[in-house]
Amino acid sequence: MRLLGVLHCKRPLCVDGCPVSVDIPTFIGFIKEKKYQEAIDTIKATNSLPAVCGRVCPQESQCEAKCVLLRTGQPIAIGRLDRFAADWEAQNAQDQDQGQDGVTKAPSNGKKVAVVGAGPAGLTCAGDLAKLGYEVTIFESLHAAGGVLIYGIPEFRLPKDVVRREVDYVKKLGVTIETDVVIGRTLTIEDLFDDGFEAVFVASGAGLPMFMHIPGENLNGVYSANEWLTRINLMKSYKFPEFDTPIKHGKKVAVVGAGNVAMDAVRSSLRLGAERAMIVYRRGRQEMPARAEEIENAEEEGVELHLLTNPVRVLGNEKGWVSGLECIKMELGEPDKSGRRRPVPIKGSEFVFDCDIVIMSLGTSPNPILAQTTEGLEAETWGGLKAREDTGRTTHSRVWAGGDAVTGSATVILAMGAGKQAAKDMDEYLRSGSTQW
Ligand code: FAD
Repeated sequence: MRLLGVLHCKRPLCVDGCPVSVDIPTFIGFIKEKKYQEAIDTIKATNSLPAVCGRVCPQESQCEAKCVLLRTGQPIAIGRLDRFAADWEAQNAQDQDQGQDGVTKAPSNGKKVAVVGAGPAGLTCAGDLAKLGYEVTIFESLHAAGGVLIYGIPEFRLPKDVVRREVDYVKKLGVTIETDVVIGRTLTIEDLFDDGFEAVFVASGAGLPMFMHIPGENLNGVYSANEWLTRINLMKSYKFPEFDTPIKHGKKVAVVGAGNVAMDAVRSSLRLGAERAMIVYRRGRQEMPARAEEIENAEEEGVELHLLTNPVRVLGNEKGWVSGLECIKMELGEPDKSGRRRPVPIKGSEFVFDCDIVIMSLGTSPNPILAQTTEGLEAETWGGLKAREDTGRTTHSRVWAGGDAVTGSATVILAMGAGKQAAKDMDEYLRSGSTQW
């Protein structure tokens, strides 16, 4: 309440725009008084990944979109202030007795909970349950925790040290992270129950890439954006042979799609030495799904935007490597189901881009492995697990789910919000000792 006086917001709306309900007025008030530790403590009361959110959250459509100052001009730069507080703490972590960040582990309540996937949804759910005294183990299929934060979003947007630090914070809350365990293969969800876990939260994301199914898509030099970014971020392929996963360093790179992932892929190609980096997108600029900031950054770095252009065939050389991308020009017709105007091919407008790498960035869907290997756990036909929006309860009485595994590819903060809601509901369920559903 103290800050309301400082900012003179009679009725601050920003908190409603934050899926994890950070007490924004209070933390900004502390920053104003130069009480930075109090500011970061306020954020961390509901958000275990503040430095990540300060860097990658689309605040312009969340907390800042609700800022009362927006009506008269610019909103408060809430994301930048959040980032400042988190980075201040990183530089000034004190309280060595309790460990970095002054974290104290909650006393155990004797109940074990398992989490599948160490992305933002899993880390948030695990952190919240650990604070309540649960013994939480996250099972992660990759060799590093962080989900898309570690394998997808490039270093130049989200430094890996920032992610590792926030993963460490969750571990200090008492969470155990077992890497290199694929649930549904190495162990099943039933195995977890047999091992004494009383409930499971599934936060396995949406890492299955989509393709166009056009001729030539199997040529060498065609990547999904997921594979391209994972090779670069997680496998350090740019340091081959020091690291053992190679990547082709293309000179002319075409990225198909215009979302944030496409922007990350195309900007990464420039950092690998591409002389020409292109976005190829079948709709117009207004329809590009990427954040305006990401599109501007890409253009400033020299990325070419080829809009109203749709690939029809990937061309290859005699050795089976990509040599070009045949496209057709498009025009916008009537709006489709999504409300966006439908792109329609212009007959006879085919032409070829000279390129040696093609990256497909058309979206991803959840991997069906968990629904396929767990009796009673149902998924939608497109792959998303069926779960209640308000609690994360699935069709299996002891399994909750949230994040991209349920919604399909969305945002870090929405995944965190889902993790938080599920933790609350799991706690209520486990504390009541109920077997009722
Ligand atoms: P994920 O982050 O995908 O984590 C899921 C984890 O589960 C992974 O670590 C995976 O390895 C693991 N896993 C999967 N299956 C299993 C299994 N069977 N057993 C064990 N572990 C398993 N959002 C933003 O808000 N801002 C951005 O700027 C932004 N940029 C993005 C850039 C890229 C390149 C991508 C791909 C996404 C971006 N997003 C962004 C979206 C955001 O990262 C996701 O919405 C968010 O990470 C979803 O969190 P999650 O925890 O549900 O899943």
